[in-house]
Amino acid sequence: MEQTTSDPRPKIFTCQVCELSSPFTYHGQKPPNTRAIVLLEECFVTQDPFSPDREKFLVLGSACSLCDTRVCVGSDCSLFYTKRFCMRCVNKHLEQFPRQIQAELAKKKQSSKSSDK
Ligand SMILES: [Zn+2]
Ligand SMILES: [Zn+2]
Repeated sequence: MEQTTSDPRPKIFTCQVCELSSPFTYHGQKPPNTRAIVLLEECFVTQDPFSPDREKFLVLGSACSLCDTRVCVGSDCSLFYTKRFCMRCVNKHLEQFPRQIQAELAKKKQSSKSSDK
């Protein structure tokens, strides 16, 4: 089978924390084929392959606003608070986040400790 060269290979987004990787179709703030949607951050976006609705898309992740690490949107890998932060930066600058977020993270840490390993 010969492949046409007109179709570029899918670009792959890889989370640098959990190593989840997935092809993405767009990187930026305005996914194509969407009506006037502007995302809050530059995201790696893929069209939802299971939806017939062309406007549906999934946000895979984005780059940490501080260290530029690519992280997925999973709550173990990143936090969105006005901007995207990877968990490493969140922990480093924890005291600069509001108490509510600090409390949520502390709660999560506890629950993952008890169930982990
Ligand atoms: Zn991840
Ligand atoms: Zn970071």
